[in-house]
Amino acid sequence: MAASDLINLSGLIDDAKCFALVRQHRWPEGACCPVCGSGAVIRAGHDDTQPCRQRYRCKACSGRFDDLTGTVLAGHHQPLRVWVLCLYFMGLNLSNRQIALELGLDGSDTQAMTEQLRRGLAAKTPAVELTGEVGVSRTHPHERIGMGCGAV
Ligand SMILES: [Zn+2]
Repeated sequence: MAASDLINLSGLIDDAKCFALVRQHRWPEGACCPVCGSGAVIRAGHDDTQPCRQRYRCKACSGRFDDLTGTVLAGHHQPLRVWVLCLYFMGLNLSNRQIALELGLDGSDTQAMTEQLRRGLAAKTPAVELTGEVGVSRTHPHERIGMGCGAV
């Protein structure tokens, strides 16, 4: 596929539908607060730079969030339509290398995206890394040295 075709393809993708897709995956029963889990949320305008990105306010905890808050898609430098295209190419069984070529992305970027997308389009940002680190650093070298010196 030539670069000009790619631009056309990306241009055909409707941002509103991309965000609707995320909402559908994330909240099949309607939006709920990512902080307290309450379903008592009200719509509170749209993102300043992404007009299709819905903002919400939680009536229970007054928390503010939007369609992508707390998901792997939030704060990523790739626009949502690139994620959706990436997901589409994954469905066609394209390799990471092919997807990178089609989307004009870096190989490592593409790998990170496909890994995250395998967990789900609206999967939560993994908190596993944090707890994993705590588990690994169970021994404190300084403490051991200190104890040894004191005992001898
Ligand atoms: Zn809340």
